[in-house]
Amino acid sequence: MNLARHIEQYLPGKLLELVKDISGQAAKHGERVYLVGGVVRDLLLRDPSLRSGPRFDLDMVVEGDAVKLAQQVAEADQVELLAHHRFGTAKLRYDNFTLDLATARKETYARPGALPAVTPGTLEDDLIRRDFSINAMAISLATNDYGELIDPYHGRRDLEHRLIRVLHPRSFSDDATRILRGVCYEQRLSFEFEAQTARLLKRDIPMLDTISGDRIRHELEHIFEENRPELVIRRLGDLGALHRITPSLKGDGWISEEFDRARRLKKPAQLPSLYFCLLIYSLSERDIEQFLARLNLPAKLSRAMRDTLRLKASLPLLDKPLLKPSEIYHLLREYEPLAIQANAIATQSPRVRRTLQVFLTKLRYVRTALNGEELKKMGISPGPQMGKVLEVLHGAKLDGEVRTRADEKQLVLSLSLRPER
Ligand code: ATP
Repeated sequence: MNLARHIEQYLPGKLLELVKDISGQAAKHGERVYLVGGVVRDLLLRDPSLRSGPRFDLDMVVEGDAVKLAQQVAEADQVELLAHHRFGTAKLRYDNFTLDLATARKETYARPGALPAVTPGTLEDDLIRRDFSINAMAISLATNDYGELIDPYHGRRDLEHRLIRVLHPRSFSDDATRILRGVCYEQRLSFEFEAQTARLLKRDIPMLDTISGDRIRHELEHIFEENRPELVIRRLGDLGALHRITPSLKGDGWISEEFDRARRLKKPAQLPSLYFCLLIYSLSERDIEQFLARLNLPAKLSRAMRDTLRLKASLPLLDKPLLKPSEIYHLLREYEPLAIQANAIATQSPRVRRTLQVFLTKLRYVRTALNGEELKKMGISPGPQMGKVLEVLHGAKLDGEVRTRADEKQLVLSLSLRPER
């Protein structure tokens, strides 16, 4: 099957020019370049919504030296290059696209879950190491057979039947992250697992134990970039995969509602971290520690997740009428903003939600007009005394008792006239 026309219709003009140019450069050294993976799948699906992300990421396989080729292109186009010599891969960053060039490779797994040993290989070697038949197709970019589909595992047929199929029975046990990836595609594309693949997947859920925390976290981050990650999370919950990652983790209806609410409030870039905080919202403090340790999460996000639960336990303090802004500020200032945001989404109480939002949108930005330098000029000595004055000033500003710089000066004078206790 020749897909030359599909390519021309699907790829933006600039990108098309670029991939043709790269292929032409490779040909000069007798090397061949192919489009592979997601781009081939999405191009055959002809679904424009699948290419509507903020960036267009495209994978290419080179039968030859991908890093050298990428270096030549980066030099000619003056773009950023990120090369991994050990893996024979390189990333080229253009304004609106990222191109991943990989030397065709053969992989062998020393033990389940380990990263594979990699040696250079042919396109066929490179396709059989892939996760699913729908991702194991390539399109030639060489001039003599430009547009030709290479589909040794019948990915196109599976696309037509809307099926997700592994390439061999050891696939999930070799690399159990494919369980998470598979469910992601199943939910994103509304596909089904082919019967044997579904059996293997269920059988190999315990193999998730062989995957490092960093790799599990990476896949969860990937899931959290989906348009509707809650579908993936719920399905992973039903399959027992979440339970396998951390026993108390659930993917229930509550998660769906909260993720949906988060999406209506926040910009896409802020969502993944927020989803993490909502995912653990019903966990106990002990269980969350187990989750954080399992996933090896970065310190800032871990802090926000712990804060989410600490604040959840303190929400009754905020569920009171007529709290002064300075009191709200005092109750919330120690928490990570992300944790406050997660609670604003998840709390049942409209009053608490409003209070948390007021803090997030207004109170946390309130600053006094006078600073330490100016107070020094007014005769306040640096140290505890100044700290106290600044706190009183800040409280008065929050509560609207002072508005202007003159009001603040007045207040400072009245404070410093009082004898120290
Ligand atoms: P997406 O649309 O989710 O980005 P993609 O297919 O581009 O889909 P990537 O995660 O960018 O997904 O991976 C690129 C390709 O690399 C996949 O299409 C697949 O062929 C291969 N791949 C990625 N991860 C694995 C894995 N764990 N095992 C085997 N092949 C993989």
